[in-house]
Amino acid sequence: MNMSAIEKLREKFENRFHTEQTFREKYCQAPTGIALNPPDVVVTVRNEQDIVDIVTLCSRTGLPVIPCGARTSIEGQINAPQGGVSIDCSEMNAITDINIEDMTATIQPGVTREQLNDALQNTGLFFSVDPGANASIGGMAATRASGTNSVRYGTMATNVQAARLIMADGSVAKVGSRAVKSAMGLDLLSLAIGSEGTLGIFSELTVNLHPVPEMIISGVCAFDSVRNAVKTVTSALKSGLPIARIELLNIPAVRACNAYSSLGLPKKPHLFVELHSNMLSMAGNVALFTEHVHKHGGDVQLSEDPAEREILWIARHDAWWAFHAFYEGCQGIPTDVCVPLSRLSACIAATEKDIAETGLNAPLIGHVGDGNFHLLLMLHEGEEETSRIQEFLNRLAERALSYGGTISGEHGVGQGKIKWMSAQHETALELMKAIKSALDPLNILNPAKMY
Ligand SMILES: Cc1cc2nc3c(=O)[nH]c(=O)nc-3n(C[C@H](O)[C@H](O)[C@H](O)COP(=O)(O)OP(=O)(O)OC[C@H]3O[C@@H](n4cnc5c(N)ncnc54)[C@H](O)[C@@H]3O)c2cc1C
Repeated sequence: MNMSAIEKLREKFENRFHTEQTFREKYCQAPTGIALNPPDVVVTVRNEQDIVDIVTLCSRTGLPVIPCGARTSIEGQINAPQGGVSIDCSEMNAITDINIEDMTATIQPGVTREQLNDALQNTGLFFSVDPGANASIGGMAATRASGTNSVRYGTMATNVQAARLIMADGSVAKVGSRAVKSAMGLDLLSLAIGSEGTLGIFSELTVNLHPVPEMIISGVCAFDSVRNAVKTVTSALKSGLPIARIELLNIPAVRACNAYSSLGLPKKPHLFVELHSNMLSMAGNVALFTEHVHKHGGDVQLSEDPAEREILWIARHDAWWAFHAFYEGCQGIPTDVCVPLSRLSACIAATEKDIAETGLNAPLIGHVGDGNFHLLLMLHEGEEETSRIQEFLNRLAERALSYGGTISGEHGVGQGKIKWMSAQHETALELMKAIKSALDPLNILNPAKMY
């Protein structure tokens, strides 16, 4: 630990500087098999200059800096294996501009998605990216988050238009612009989105907003097989229906959500669905969607009642707690993969077979419109480190790659998925390392992650 840098931080930040162990322990998270490492210090920042000051100081002394927002990431992104300073951005939560005509909001990175949507009430606009957790928008940009709405409105990769980024030497880079498109040079904004705090720290972001749909219909569809559910998703998307959310729950997931949220659904694979459109075309959209469900042997129940809709999506977002309640005494190990839609059904079938053969309890839920599914491996203490589980996770990763997909669709790399970066990217991983060392030669920005 570099004492003089730490003392300077203490002096400058006073009661926003924390070294108490219990406080620091809230600033580490590690996935299965990886040690929890709290940072040496946590500093809460309130403006861009605070971040610049910390990074400048740390860059002189080689002290690691780990930015964080709502701390909901799950692959060890905010863990501090080399110690250093956690920069807590959660109090940088000002919404500096809502531009109705441009349909953008400019915010500080600690603004959460729920906070932004509350502020947008009565504007006719909303911020669409919804990772379930009430994450910070800086953290969401840094993990390239997505969620239930991404099938229609895109991920963080397509919903950030501009940002201010504090670089490893403390300089400030403006990336992107307020214009909807640009042909001026390299796309550094895209490079920053998904870089998990390893290339720079967001101090401001301009994000895209979307019109609140005139009409929303949501509901559930039950199928005899996951295969038929997925076939419905692909055919409905191909027909151009305005599907805003389409979530798969396999039978174990339905049983747990029934028990937790009193849904009373038949014990069959289900799709939870939502259509967004104007009033004029909704009847036709509902008729066409129903046709797709019936063609694949499913039953469908749709409703425009906002109360029913709320119950449905709360139940979906509560799935994590539902699984923990159902598999009492177990700890859930989350993982996600994403494959092309054409291979999704085969990938899920092979994964469900593997789960059964390995003797696991692992309910499956997924943003299937994106080809993305999650498993929560429900394990007893210590079990996650056994070779049985590690081999299962290796097979899942290899399967995603063999189907032309990716080892994470949204949870990111952190420390948890580093071991598969080379398998996924092959020689392109060397390009990523070259970019990292060019932009952060002392490796102070969130070290020991991703590369
Ligand atoms: C129950 C549950 C469900 C989830 N479901 C989803 C889901 O459906 N989709 C999904 O994508 N994710 C999901 N997640 C994961 C998590 O919510 C996302 O990764 C989210 O984007 C993290 O945001 P955060 O504010 O919590 O970031 P943090 O956890 O605080 O940080 C995450 C990463 O971002 C970096 N970072 C934070 N702030 C900044 C900044 N200002 N500048 C640069 N880097 C920064 C950190 O260094 C770290 O690498 C889920 C998590 C939970 C617990």
